[in-house]
Amino acid sequence: MTWDLTNENRWTYKEIPNGVVAIEGGTSEAYDTGSWRTDRPIWTEENCTDCMLCWVSCPDSSIIVNKQKMTGIDLMHCKGCGVCVNVCRFDALEMMNEEDAKGIDICEM
Ligand code: SF4
Ligand code: SF4
Repeated sequence: MTWDLTNENRWTYKEIPNGVVAIEGGTSEAYDTGSWRTDRPIWTEENCTDCMLCWVSCPDSSIIVNKQKMTGIDLMHCKGCGVCVNVCRFDALEMMNEEDAKGIDICEM
């Protein structure tokens, strides 16, 4: 599909073509948004105190919790923003380049 961008700087919202339409809610879970990531959080379980700071801070709900315990990170949806690493006070999370992190599996569902 190609768009006619003639006079695009004068467009009002009425001229802007639809880029995407979300036809129903609750569909984001089906998409592997983690594939955009360049860096990923690495979790050191031994240092984790289950304080849940990362869980409340993650914008993508990618910190996995079971019975009030952190159990892993949902790497299918984690976009690698690093917020969880910033909020962790216990050296239980660090960011690592995707290339360097290959083979480190910390994702539990
Ligand atoms: S890096 Fe960002 S998206 Fe991924 S788990 Fe941490 S806070 Fe969530
Ligand atoms: S913020 Fe750190 S210590 Fe707290 S639950 Fe997350 S990883 Fe564990």
